[in-house]
Amino acid sequence: MKRQPWRVAVVGGGIAGLAAAVRLRDSAPAGTEITVYEQSGALGGKLRTGELAGHPVEFGAESFLMRDPTGAESAAVALARRLGLAEKIVHPTVGQAALVIDGGLRPIPGGTLVGVPGDLDRVAAVARPAADSDTDGGRPLVGPDADVSVGALVRSRFGDEVVERLVDPMLGGVYAGRADDLSLVTTMPALARTARVEHTLVGAVRAAQAAAPRAPGAPVFGTLAGGLSTLVEAAVTASGATVRRDAAVRELTPTGTGWRLTVGPTRDPELVDVDAVVLAVPARPAARLLAGPAPAVAAGVGALDYASVALVTMALPQPRLPELSGFLVPSTEGLLIKAATFFTTKWGHLRRPDGLALVRASVGRYGEEAHLQRPDADLAATVHRELSAVLGTPLPAPVDGHVQRWGGALPQYAPGHADRLAAARTALRAAHPTLVLAGAGYDGVGIPVCVRSGETAAEEIITALGGSAR
Ligand SMILES: Cc1cc2nc3c(=O)[nH]c(=O)nc-3n(C[C@H](O)[C@H](O)[C@H](O)COP(=O)(O)OP(=O)(O)OC[C@H]3O[C@@H](n4cnc5c(N)ncnc54)[C@H](O)[C@@H]3O)c2cc1C
Repeated sequence: MKRQPWRVAVVGGGIAGLAAAVRLRDSAPAGTEITVYEQSGALGGKLRTGELAGHPVEFGAESFLMRDPTGAESAAVALARRLGLAEKIVHPTVGQAALVIDGGLRPIPGGTLVGVPGDLDRVAAVARPAADSDTDGGRPLVGPDADVSVGALVRSRFGDEVVERLVDPMLGGVYAGRADDLSLVTTMPALARTARVEHTLVGAVRAAQAAAPRAPGAPVFGTLAGGLSTLVEAAVTASGATVRRDAAVRELTPTGTGWRLTVGPTRDPELVDVDAVVLAVPARPAARLLAGPAPAVAAGVGALDYASVALVTMALPQPRLPELSGFLVPSTEGLLIKAATFFTTKWGHLRRPDGLALVRASVGRYGEEAHLQRPDADLAATVHRELSAVLGTPLPAPVDGHVQRWGGALPQYAPGHADRLAAARTALRAAHPTLVLAGAGYDGVGIPVCVRSGETAAEEIITALGGSAR
């Protein structure tokens, strides 16, 4: 066992790093010194609650899944509970969202798994599945160790329209990417598992749904009434970590007994020695930090590409909005908007007595970054015009607005990602067991996945330093 007190650095103050810090506090020996290094001036990473027209509003992630793919409570809910915030979890009041089809709104059909239907009749109003392609070929859809793109699998079974009108917009809403590029194993793990057993895609979707049954009426999503930044603040407090903002870690050097961090500006660097490091930054900065101590791992990790998005939020005085949580836009519709959320319709706790509506549109698909070069005012005007066109009514001029750009924010997991990651992690563990990766670059996007990833990294560090989780 490493001499105590242990000194552990968490590099990256997003939710993965903070979840790691909380788990270290809960499970590492008492007195462990935990320091979180965050390169920006604020903690939370993609979780950022801002303000518009005097009202709190999310400028980044908006909500979290209540359950994990097995049907158990998600890691985000468990963390909120651990932090005393369970009472603050609220659910959408209006859950129904729409798709833009031929310029108009149609309700998103139920019974799909991220847009992949388990009942073809239920999606017929939106997309016509190819007839008779999903036949039993006498073997599982996907080989035991294989990965494919979601698009390739669904196109081969249900045809192009189901991909373009249902799966692409749903995956685009999460990854800003395209079904044809994204790994089945990483982006739809539950379906990947059943596709290795079932002979038809309808069968695989139904089996995945049956494996995680949902109690009727049980909410799928939750958020925190005070905003997701309250999760960030509560995690910092509970972790008892020393927090260093505006402190970019620029180099990691093995010392033989641990790690030396080079922190801060090149001209005036600070050198810090620690026993172990949780590296909870996106894959690109992680690859730069790994290039010295683990070049092969850096190459594997750095191969991951990212999409950029911009979120345009507007406060609109008494607009006429449909009773929908928002809508998704297939790329074939030719609009800049990829998705829109009617915050004050979707979330009862955000409704305003004065009828002010908070509406957010997300812009930017993988490979279309040029659109994001446009100035804020141009993006906002285009979003306002497109929203009016889709809703079929001219929207009032906004009384307040905000454009939040998230550059290189959403990982594009290509088929084979999970295997490449497993190989990189195995190599890193063998060479440097006290340096562990966590966060969205690796195990998937989403608050629950990143919380779990941070917690797992913390437990690996505890094991590597010779302790056992308390
Ligand atoms: C626009 C958008 C909307 C989203 N909406 C949702 C949603 O509604 N629900 C959901 O579940 N998920 C959502 N997600 C995904 C989710 O927010 C992310 O998967 C998750 O927050 C990532 O957490 P993380 O800690 O892994 O990374 P990050 O949040 O990226 O945090 C990493 C941190 O590391 C810091 N950092 C980087 N390099 C260094 C360095 N060298 N030294 C020190 N610090 C460094 C960064 O500044 C950053 O703060 C959304 C993502 C985006 C971009």
